[in-house]
Formats: sequence, structure tokens, C-alpha cells
Amino acid sequence: YDDKDGKIWMDGELVDWRGANVHLLTHALHYASSVFEGERCYDGRIFESRKHSERLHRSAELIDFEIPWSVDQIEEAKAKVLAANGLENAYVRALAWRGAGPDMGVASARNPVRLAIAAWEWGAYYGDAKMKGAKLDISKWKRPSPETAPSQAKAAGLYMICTMSKHAAEAKGCSDAMMLDYRGYVAEATGANMFFVKDGEVHTPDPDCFLNGITRQTVIGMLRERQVKVHERHIMPEELESFEQCWLTGTAAEVTPVGSIGDFRFEVGALAQGIAADYEKLVRA
Ligand code: PMP
Repeated sequence: YDDKDGKIWMDGELVDWRGANVHLLTHALHYASSVFEGERCYDGRIFESRKHSERLHRSAELIDFEIPWSVDQIEEAKAKVLAANGLENAYVRALAWRGAGPDMGVASARNPVRLAIAAWEWGAYYGDAKMKGAKLDISKWKRPSPETAPSQAKAAGLYMICTMSKHAAEAKGCSDAMMLDYRGYVAEATGANMFFVKDGEVHTPDPDCFLNGITRQTVIGMLRERQVKVHERHIMPEELESFEQCWLTGTAAEVTPVGSIGDFRFEVGALAQGIAADYEKLVRA
């Protein structure tokens, strides 16, 4: 991963991929004081680029720091990274964090806030699941209440239980895990939002304690354009039995049909496949 040609944008400069290092005493490494974005560039254009940069700014505000670069500057930096690496189809990762400095306790007001942007080629997030449907485990970890963590921030700290859930799922031969929230409602996968189909209508968890994904919002728009009714509501896990189709949405995941969640099975149906195909067309339009 580190022994690779290429350039990474760090604090205003393009540096060699191999030299894009930070100090061990980086505050973020100890206290999870970082926020990030995952974006995809299709045929030379980042889908919803500005929305991602705006969300990065908002995530930083939600965890109480300010990125010393404007949204416009971040947009320019992303374009520079893609050009420097000759990439037209790539995943883009922006990361902002509290760096190393005089403060190594919990407080870190005197340490610099830093920003880096990397890009690399990254294929389908769930491999061949687009055809067969992804197999999901049910995580034992719950998405926290908005009173426990700033749940609308795409912040590193919120991913600790996602990594643990995904590792547990993979150990059981699944590709991902469905997480419930602190009240027991269906929430999301470890890096993607969830949709269900019943009697031709779509049901998706109300994103009141997890990320309201940019892909999720795009897909809701696509469904409404198709005159499909979308219910954003609280969903109990017992309801999984009554759903016919299920899919995941996310920048990395794109639209990926789900074949099973624990013992519940779903068909890779016409709506899931149709929305996945429409999304592919839209991102390259
Ligand atoms: N939830 C989580 C936990 C995620 O990591 C992601 C990916 N960013 C999403 C949902 C989907 O968000 P988006 O569609 O904006 O990529």
C-alpha cells in the first residue's frame, strides 16, 4: 500500500505517495479526531463532488474543528490529485485531522488541523454481489444515539464498531453486516445505507442517528422519478421477513442488491437491478 508510485495532496502540496507520512504523536491517531470523505470519479468527473466537500466541512464542524481550506480549494485539490495520477475512474479519499503539536492530551487546540487527499483505482466494493446479492450478517454493535456521538459526521470515531462488525461478518463468510440502532431499529450497513421493497413500495430507515448518504439521497430521487412510493421510517428487524428485495447504497458500494441478512432471504429483483443500472448511467452522464 505504501510502496507505490503516485502523488498525494497534503496541506497544499503534492507529495510522493511513499512520503505521505504523519508523526506518531498525531492527535487523530490517539483520539479519533478526524473526518473523511469517500468519493468516486467516473470518466473524469467526481459524482456530487461539491456535496462531498461540503459534507467534509460540516463533519469537521460537528467534531469541533475547522478545515483551513475552503470548499473551492478542496475542489481544486481533488482535481489536482486526479490529474497528477492520471486517473479518470477512481476512488477519492479526503481526510482532515488534528495533527501532532504541543497538545498530546485530550484537548488539542494548539495542534494544526491538516488535510490530505488521495486517489486510487477501486473496483466493485462487494465483488460479484451485484449479480447474486450480497450476504449480510447482523452485527451485535448498535449505532449510537445522537446524544452519544455526532452521528451525522463522517468521523473516524464512528467507524470503530463498523470495522469490528465487518470483521465479524467476514469471519462468517458474509460481505458486510446490518447494524441496528440504539433503539433496536434497522439502521445501516457498516459503510452503506439500506433500502427494502414490499408490494412495489420502498422502505428505508429514517437517518436520524446515522449518515444520510449522498447515494441514498440520489436513489430516493430516482425512485420518486419512477413514481415509486418511498417511506422513510423506523423499521423493526422483525419486519425483514416481509420484505421481498433489499439493496445497499453508498459511494463505494454504489447500488448493490442484498441476497440475505442473517436467515432472512431476498430476491435480486427487478427494482433492485433497475435502480443499480440507472445509478450506473447517472454517475457517468
Ligand atoms: N453509512 C456509512 C457508515 C458510510 O460509511 C457511508 C459511506 N460514506 C454511507 C452510509 C453512505 O454514504 P454516501 O452515499 O454518501 O457514500
